[in-house]
Amino acid sequence: MSDPVGQNRRIILYGNPMLHQKATAVEEITGHVRKLLADLEVTMAAQDGLGLAANQIGEPLTVLAINPRGADVDAQPYCIINPRIVAREGEVEREEGCLSIPGIYDVVSRPELVRVAGLNPDGKPVELEATGLLARVFTHETDHLNGVLFIDHLSKTRLQLLSTRLEEIKKQEKIEAESKSQGAERKMQNGQKAKRL
Ligand SMILES: [Zn+2]
Repeated sequence: MSDPVGQNRRIILYGNPMLHQKATAVEEITGHVRKLLADLEVTMAAQDGLGLAANQIGEPLTVLAINPRGADVDAQPYCIINPRIVAREGEVEREEGCLSIPGIYDVVSRPELVRVAGLNPDGKPVELEATGLLARVFTHETDHLNGVLFIDHLSKTRLQLLSTRLEEIKKQEKIEAESKSQGAERKMQNGQKAKRL
């Protein structure tokens, strides 16, 4: 079977309930899953993301796309199915952002090193180690699959300061969900390209 061609999908925004729900494990690598992998890679590349979780494009399955180059690691983008963080070490504070929460960046503490186990797109078990920014990408993305956003790690005070912007994003999500538009405005609004996951 040839690989399906990926499509650039709409990334759902803060306010969409799917971002707060746990994704379901993939039990079989069906045509639907293979298409999802292709769509994730295309969408991540189109948005210059460092990583992308399937529920960010409205598919509640435990699948991630990872872009190591965005984290200065020389490797091609890839997908991992049913990822689990099996070990973590150290702690680093650094600013990060999220493709589903455009325009908001804040400091979150993440492990310095993680070991991740999962399946490759052929369904073979893989285990890999990531450090620094790539470790941050993996924890941010596996959080997504558990229905957790990076802003869920912020203090109540900090969230209060961000509340106006968060309300704006919620409104934008409503409009986009109704019109199914892939907002050109969103790209401009983001401006700051780096560090979005
Ligand atoms: Zn994110």
